[in-house]
Amino acid sequence: MSSHSDSWRSSKLRPVLGKLKPYVAGKGFLEISRKYGIAPESIVKLGSNENPYGPSPKVAEAMAEVSPERYPEPEELIAGIAAYTGFPEEMIIIGAGMDGVMDTLTRLFLDTGDRTFIPTPTFSYYEILTVTAGATPVLAPRSPDFSAPGSIPPGTKMAFLCSPNNPTGNVIGEEEVCALLESTEAIVFLDEAYVEFADKSLIRLVERYDNLIVGRTLSKAFGLAGMRLGYAVAPQWIADQYRRAAPPFYAISCASVAAGTAALSDLPFMRRTVEKIRSERERLQKATGAHPSQANFLYLETSQDSRKYVERFLAKGIIIRDCRSFWGAGENHVRITVGTPSENDRFLSAFQEI
Ligand code: PMP
Repeated sequence: MSSHSDSWRSSKLRPVLGKLKPYVAGKGFLEISRKYGIAPESIVKLGSNENPYGPSPKVAEAMAEVSPERYPEPEELIAGIAAYTGFPEEMIIIGAGMDGVMDTLTRLFLDTGDRTFIPTPTFSYYEILTVTAGATPVLAPRSPDFSAPGSIPPGTKMAFLCSPNNPTGNVIGEEEVCALLESTEAIVFLDEAYVEFADKSLIRLVERYDNLIVGRTLSKAFGLAGMRLGYAVAPQWIADQYRRAAPPFYAISCASVAAGTAALSDLPFMRRTVEKIRSERERLQKATGAHPSQANFLYLETSQDSRKYVERFLAKGIIIRDCRSFWGAGENHVRITVGTPSENDRFLSAFQEI
């Protein structure tokens, strides 16, 4: 085996890697079970914005029929997304999670030296994608009510808006988005990962603006986080280029196609789980005094250091998310995913104690 020097290794790696801050995910059952010696089944996981009710029962039936020896065929899935969103199939792009969709999109637009505009705190993958493309993220702090800045700096190549925003839970209004779109030359990516939990979607604006892409996912309201399936509605000129740059089979699988198609065929199931989560969200919000939210999570200010605060919940087998890894969230914020009523009760009783 040959062993090269550190300087040889770093001469091979792209210099931008040195600027990367790795993505910090919410903690998992196994990690907490090992660390605290708590059985995984007694852990309440409220740290990753998943849907505790999972997907429609039709998903399990469809997955039992999958032929794993074949490559995936996405036609039915795309037809299902087109029917759900009301957009033609030509405007639907898919990928392995919305993360995968954004990954391919940044490959279409971002080059070394480009700038992206990111109102913070927000989902950190936008910044990671910018940096890996060799571009520079311009991080713009939100105002105290978490609204995004009213203008995008000239020379911006791509802007990332998240509504409802992760981790703050607030939405951006239609007028604000239109004003931003009309005053910029940038490609605007509007991330609606949590939109099913909100009062309103702005997806129809894609008909009016040829620089707007709206991203969505099956991970949240549809309860399919583990299947890694996301999509976006994009103007035709962008969707056509997306299909040229995307990985083979869009990096999706037979299982994710079957699951996604089945979940989209049972919208009443999804809507029932969303209703339960919205009503529990209001209960938790009142009980904790967290900021109002239009998503399936709450953003809560803590009087003590958020790392220590989260640690005390983890020791009781309750996973919540420390927001220190979000730029601009400071050291006193946590994010709590809305769970089932009994999970929320467990959270609330720990909350009273802590
Ligand atoms: N956007 C936001 C705002 C998110 O919070 C997430 C999930 N953490 C994603 C996109 C990515 O979702 P997916 O599971 O579809 O990759």
